Amino acid sequence: MQTSFPPEALADPAMRASEAVIRTCVHCGFCTATCPTYVLLGDENDSPRGRIYLMKDMLENQRKPSAEVVKHIDRCLSCLACMTTCPSGVNYMHLVDHARAYINETYTRPRSERWTRRLLAFVLPHSERFRWALTFAPLAKPLRPLLRKLPATRPLAAMLDMAPSHIPNPTSAQSTRISGAKARVALLQGCAEPILKPQFREATVRLLNRIGHDVIFAPGEGCCGALVHHLGRGADAKAAARRNVDAWMAEIEGAGLAAILVTASGCGTTIKDYGFLLREDPDYATKAARVSALAKDVTEYLIELDLPASAANDLTVAYHPACSLQHGQKVTDAPKRLLTNAGYRVRTPAEAHLCCGSAGTYNILQSKIASELGTRKAAHLDALEADVIATGNVGCATQIARFSGVPVVHTVELLDWATGGPKPAALG
Ligand code: SF4
Ligand code: SF4
Repeated sequence: MQTSFPPEALADPAMRASEAVIRTCVHCGFCTATCPTYVLLGDENDSPRGRIYLMKDMLENQRKPSAEVVKHIDRCLSCLACMTTCPSGVNYMHLVDHARAYINETYTRPRSERWTRRLLAFVLPHSERFRWALTFAPLAKPLRPLLRKLPATRPLAAMLDMAPSHIPNPTSAQSTRISGAKARVALLQGCAEPILKPQFREATVRLLNRIGHDVIFAPGEGCCGALVHHLGRGADAKAAARRNVDAWMAEIEGAGLAAILVTASGCGTTIKDYGFLLREDPDYATKAARVSALAKDVTEYLIELDLPASAANDLTVAYHPACSLQHGQKVTDAPKRLLTNAGYRVRTPAEAHLCCGSAGTYNILQSKIASELGTRKAAHLDALEADVIATGNVGCATQIARFSGVPVVHTVELLDWATGGPKPAALG
């Protein structure tokens, strides 16, 4: 795509990077077929190609975005299906991340949206605040019919819809040292996952210990920054990345790390991109690139190892590939191979490339589209008549469980069970 960014705009490294992305797009439109919002809404402005045109016009002309442009960018799930489909290698992720930061700086959202977004950025990335919010959520649930009536308060109703009726006990997963360990790895603690699904990393620690790994939770590390990044809060995302880079570098330069493992693939995609996010920061660029190079989805790491012989569990597993894993990290076969090697029968649903509608805070901010995608995803998964659904991202697990009657677990829970761990709690 031809561009004509003024030279003064290109003095900004973020603009230069976006211009380079836009120039790689040949406007062929292949990406439209796999874009969930285009599939649902049929509007070119809700397709990757249409959004690239909107972002080009906004950035190239240094234009203050209109409410209409913001609406179409907000509707993007950042599922990155378009990046998998694109034959021209367009890095849509970097472009939309920049566009969101630009919108955050130049556009004044209606007051209710501003407050909702501030609330999400204040609560979700902080485990303890999130736990407190969930503790009090049941008290506010009776207000949902009222909150649903006004567009301004619909996100609050969506938040309450998703709040679990029971908050699990705090995770018992801790840094563990194995005598004669073969390797030492860090496991991301993150923010929401240990509160909503503590069993995910408990299973991961057990499995890694069983195969002779020391597992550490680096002191000072926290939310990866993805949630605020997708809200357009670039400075907050960079602050989260710097904090985590400091925490992991202390371990890398101390006792050493074979890998930084992630059980939430949405976080993994972001951590693998720290090198790009902090590329202009002279104090962090090299360290961030080192951290990104060490980051791995837990299944990406496990597939390289010999897992102990499995006690076959006679179960059929419907595998749901999280977008952040299949499109963001291009990890597609490892989870299915691990499950098959562990003795499970693995099935993949129709439209496996389409997002389930979770997408960070998307199912709060765009609850109608998210619910349509969740319903569609659950129907395809339920059609497999599996005993259990396995996935690799806490957001997907939570979203799918709202629409499907089949128990949903993390892939690692099934691997842990097959190699001597307890049966996943979701299986009763
Ligand atoms: S598939 Fe790639 S090159 Fe073609 S329109 Fe979409 S983003 Fe552009
Ligand atoms: S990231 Fe997903 S929703 Fe956004 S344009 Fe690409 S395919 Fe469509």
